[in-house]
Amino acid sequence: MDYKHMRNELMAQKLIKNFERRNMEAYYCPTKEEVLAKAKELVPEGSSITWGGSVTIRDIGLTKMFDDGNYKALDRDKVKNPEEYQSILRKAFELDWYLTSANAITEDGLIVNIDGLGNRVAAITFGPKNVLFVVSLDKLAKDAESAVKRVRSIAAPINAARFDNIKTPCKVDGLCHNCNAPGCICNFVHIVRNSGIKNRIKIILMDDNYGF
Ligand code: SF4
Repeated sequence: MDYKHMRNELMAQKLIKNFERRNMEAYYCPTKEEVLAKAKELVPEGSSITWGGSVTIRDIGLTKMFDDGNYKALDRDKVKNPEEYQSILRKAFELDWYLTSANAITEDGLIVNIDGLGNRVAAITFGPKNVLFVVSLDKLAKDAESAVKRVRSIAAPINAARFDNIKTPCKVDGLCHNCNAPGCICNFVHIVRNSGIKNRIKIILMDDNYGF
């Protein structure tokens, strides 16, 4: 008997209702294979699509699926220069779909993200016609306060470790020092309370642990 799955299934059903109360559409797909199938079902072929810097959506093969498929994908990982990169970040606002993960979600259905440049939280807020989150259930926090704590103490320092070109205090000891250092990746703290446009924001919850 997979007790973790049993518990996650119950929790996911509760979360789906809480997201629905907030004008968001949510699904529970335990495995990454089921996530990919659900994403394929949700995003019509031919859609224009891009994504944020999330590790989760790359590691489960979601970005590759859209890159290789019959979609108008703008892949920021394949740009040749910084100008092209910036151009994709700006074009994101006019596309049909934006893919990302979340840094944390809460039991009552808030979505919490912390961003350095701000392009991801900007696209979540406004622009793309649809925003699709893929979030592992291990990112669930009790409430907004504990979600922000989780992001600051776990997700952000691990995320900072990915970038060779920044010298934030968390790169030295792995702990958040609430810094204002150049290259700080925690410039914007963003909470989605409701989707202003019904079901513009969609969430796929998964058991498999991806991202941080
Ligand atoms: S030390 Fe700075 S960059 Fe690192 S997690 Fe804390 S606020 Fe973010």
